[in-house]
Amino acid sequence: MSETYQHRARKRFGQNFLHDAGVIHRILRAIHAREGEHLLEIGPGQGALTEGLLGSGAKLDVVELDRDLIPILNAKFATEPRFQLHQGDALKFDFNRLGAEPRSLRVVGNLPYNISTPLIFHLLSNAALIHDMHFMLQKEVVERLAAEPGGGDWGRLSIMVQYHCRVEHLFNVGPGAFNPPPKVDSAIVRLVPHEILPHPAKDHHLLERVVREAFNQRRKTLRNTLKALLPAAAIEAAGVDGSLRPEQLDLAAFVRLADQLAEHLSITATPDSR
Ligand code: SAM
Repeated sequence: MSETYQHRARKRFGQNFLHDAGVIHRILRAIHAREGEHLLEIGPGQGALTEGLLGSGAKLDVVELDRDLIPILNAKFATEPRFQLHQGDALKFDFNRLGAEPRSLRVVGNLPYNISTPLIFHLLSNAALIHDMHFMLQKEVVERLAAEPGGGDWGRLSIMVQYHCRVEHLFNVGPGAFNPPPKVDSAIVRLVPHEILPHPAKDHHLLERVVREAFNQRRKTLRNTLKALLPAAAIEAAGVDGSLRPEQLDLAAFVRLADQLAEHLSITATPDSR
């Protein structure tokens, strides 16, 4: 495959290829990969970030879904023994296959925007393997990930990701940095899984349930939205004012509600210990 091969970007794979050298450099600087590290790139595309990541001396696994990009990536990088290409769907990829040490894997990617939220949750289910993650996402999604309680961006995504990770909104990237340009603004986010969860829930599935239920109708009071899950007395026992709306509660308060629910359901669960 020659270097001049022109790959036509496919919408269904969320392909918006980075071409702005300044932006690529800025992303690589934020990741700051080093020799001896183990990186995983999701959706390398035509290798815009891959080249600089490999140049750092790190070991690099990449997962790319589009079969047409495989020969292009192989032609560019396959001679490098630190490079390993996996063709397939990152949403179904078993990260344990990579043989990474606990808390060692550095995950990066200019993600296809249509799968970014499920992919982050898939990665978080393997959080024990991960050192950190750097992603290009829709700016609006990054704002929700990094949101604080009290505002319109604070919701299910912010709470469930901040339960597992520290979130940093690093910088924004305009549509002109990509080919073809997306219709929305983008941003780079850094997610660092907590070594020790700051607010461990007795059962994080119950936390998910409380948060989902609470934000299903974000304009209503907690007393109303949680009626089917928790009696008013249990909300009060969690130290939460039932007349508040869900966006007024911080993560710690949601965890207290989830723990009340565990008690209410008489579930005996061990605390998350990561
Ligand atoms: N990293 C390249 C860049 O910055 O120019 C490409 C980024 S493009 C936004 C997203 C890439 O993810 C594409 O190469 C696309 O084929 C790939 N992709 C889409 N869905 C995927 C999936 N489920 N698993 C792995 N890769 C996927």
